Amino acid sequence: MDIVESARTNAQTINGMIRPSTFRVIAGPCTVESYEQYAASAEAVKQAGFEYVRGGAFKPRTSPYSFQGLGEEGLRIMSEVNDELGLKGVTEVMDPDQIEPVMEHAQVIQIGARNMANFSLLKRVGGAIKGTDHGVVLKRGFSATVEEWLLAAEYITSEGGDNVVLCERGIRTFETSTRFTLDLSAVIVAKRLTDLPVIVDPSHAAGRRDLVIPLSKASVAAEADGLLVESHHEPQEALCDAEQALPAEALQGLRGALQPFAGAMGREVI
Ligand code: PEP
Ligand code: MN
Repeated sequence: MDIVESARTNAQTINGMIRPSTFRVIAGPCTVESYEQYAASAEAVKQAGFEYVRGGAFKPRTSPYSFQGLGEEGLRIMSEVNDELGLKGVTEVMDPDQIEPVMEHAQVIQIGARNMANFSLLKRVGGAIKGTDHGVVLKRGFSATVEEWLLAAEYITSEGGDNVVLCERGIRTFETSTRFTLDLSAVIVAKRLTDLPVIVDPSHAAGRRDLVIPLSKASVAAEADGLLVESHHEPQEALCDAEQALPAEALQGLRGALQPFAGAMGREVI
């Protein structure tokens, strides 16, 4: 794995998002559906005491017949609400043409599991964030090995974009009781092989909201640097990933639920 060693950087700060001795929670809806829905969901993130909010405008849906997101209109809604609430935004790019508008409206670019091996997209994102305050959250492909995931990160860092955070979001296994299987050993392995921060997305891994908080606690213990979690002000009404979204009340209790575990790891939940 020598080649992976070259991914070592000192990216301890990604735009202030990942900081030493802290555990960063990024929460928000799967998708920006409307101004009202995003504003209410983002307000719940703020009320829960978190500073970073997620929301997809360009959505990589498995079916072409599912809601594909609001595109640039979704980005505008996101930045308007985030600016008003003082939140920082994380949102996905699927195509090089989307990089510029995403960077205009959000602080952190997400590259989804389905695009982890889209090397031309990775290179373009790496070049685009070079010398800026923007960061990238790189999800692990659901059939990718840890080595492939770290090499994908190198496509970004080798273009000069060093603010990269890895995100474990579950892999495909034979298990059917969860949507994917959260691979916590990969979090620990990745942290041993690279200095890049590693966060966990328990929402897409489990696909069911009742497992999100227990898996979040386990992620803290597995040395993760943070969480990317889906929440919605009315989960049952969500247009995308309704079964896994945390309602506002659960989000409200998340910091308190995680802090004893984070404290034991010498971290503060932020
Ligand atoms: C998402 O974060 O909404 C998403 C589509 O995630 P993934 O790429 O991990 O499936
Ligand atoms: Mn989702």
